[in-house]
Amino acid sequence: MAIMITEECINCGACEPECPNTAIYEGGADWELAGTNFTEGSKAPSGAEGFYSRDFFYIVPDKCTECKGFHDEPQCAAVCPVDCCIPDPKHVETEEELLTKKEYLDSIGRVAR
Ligand code: SF4
Repeated sequence: MAIMITEECINCGACEPECPNTAIYEGGADWELAGTNFTEGSKAPSGAEGFYSRDFFYIVPDKCTECKGFHDEPQCAAVCPVDCCIPDPKHVETEEELLTKKEYLDSIGRVAR
């Protein structure tokens, strides 16, 4: 399951550099996947929507592997001072699906924001 950032976020930015998948973006920023830029209102290639935020940091479900393949626990949740990085009930995935996503991201490369 992807991780999501709730509106409790205080915009400290601690999570963003910790993400091995460059899945975390500042509120209002466009996001990128496989050379394509997406913005507010864009539907992700997986069909995911409703995750974008103008006001606080947000996580792109198509890029979050819950840190599978990198770490034992979600790094964003580990560093968040207000515990606002939580499992996203709208984007539930198995460990196998998350590892397949990691392999896909490995294959296309991860572009620095
Ligand atoms: Fe990035 Fe890991 Fe947080 Fe997902 S759980 S957004 S991969 S740091």
